[in-house]
Amino acid sequence: MITETDPRFGKPSASSFVLPALCPGQPTLVASMENVPEPQDEDQERGTRLHAAWEKGDPAGLDTADTEIFDRGERISRNVVAEWEILRGAAVTEKKREERFYWHDEKGNLAASGQADRHWIFDEWGLVADFKSLWCRSLTPAERNWQARLLAVLIAREYGLTHVRFAFLKAMFGTADIVDYNQGDLRRAEWSVEQVLWEARQDGAQRRPGAHCRHCKAATACPEAAAWVSLPTSALKVRPGAGITPKQAQILANQVSLNDCRWVWQGITTRRNIEDAIKARLKALPEPKLADLGLKLGTASINRPITNPAGAFSYLQRLGFAEAQIWRAVSIKNGVLTDIVMEKMNLSKKAAEQWIRQKLEHCITESVQDRALEEI
Ligand code: SF4
Repeated sequence: MITETDPRFGKPSASSFVLPALCPGQPTLVASMENVPEPQDEDQERGTRLHAAWEKGDPAGLDTADTEIFDRGERISRNVVAEWEILRGAAVTEKKREERFYWHDEKGNLAASGQADRHWIFDEWGLVADFKSLWCRSLTPAERNWQARLLAVLIAREYGLTHVRFAFLKAMFGTADIVDYNQGDLRRAEWSVEQVLWEARQDGAQRRPGAHCRHCKAATACPEAAAWVSLPTSALKVRPGAGITPKQAQILANQVSLNDCRWVWQGITTRRNIEDAIKARLKALPEPKLADLGLKLGTASINRPITNPAGAFSYLQRLGFAEAQIWRAVSIKNGVLTDIVMEKMNLSKKAAEQWIRQKLEHCITESVQDRALEEI
């Protein structure tokens, strides 16, 4: 939605350009929503305060911790500029801070924009700096970053530049992440931005959910995002082959909605049947076919059940084992005993089970099992 105070005029902006780049349908969904607030949290407000201080170059009003971050950001900025001045062989002048640059399409319509925290121009060369105020561990490196790419192209178009250096100033870490665009890079970057904008304009542009959805303000209204987060592998970021430990499964179970829990429970038998059938199909494949899939049959494990318990019993007794000791290793299987009683006494299965329960009551230890889930 466009608001009077929105300097982006409802168009994609560099700071969130990764969203239309990864999900072409995102701008259309956002535009269709009324009053979508930007996601806010405490860190964001803190980041805004720090950015305002960097814009003024004055930490007044910041607390001690934030003043330290401010100073660190200024220090990195000075270093990045000094290094660039050595490369250019001259002192460079800073342009207006927090300036927004606009991208118009071939028909002259506004299509996107980007705001540079700081930028410097020297001849056909440009330097752009973007402060990252707090922890930004998941920040995509500058070389692959869509914010850096769009800003580099916007500034190159604005000033007719042939080279742009873009730097993320990571104040918390005290480091800069830098990427250089030469003329060829800028041309390719421009095409890629055009491609993103063109794809986003197409009717029915596809929405592609992923980890980036957590930065999308349309996430709460997006069915694709809802479906994606309910996938166990995405909720826990587990690769299919990596497996889920019982602990991870417990976390997952607490993350999904109760309705989804019910849905998953209803499908347990179906999934088990499908999994068994798939395993059987894979195991029946000839070895070369299995190898094509990156699989092989392992060494067969060997079962060694004692099929002559009477013989084992008397042998162990002869060796000096006490009878009570040997009985600890012997058990009578209810199912097999039921079959024996059915055959011997000519009873139905139910009657045989009843008979065993009554006649062998003194030999049975009852234990109450977990109550099974049932549909009402
Ligand atoms: S939530 Fe994700 S899938 Fe939905 S529009 Fe936003 S980025 Fe695209």
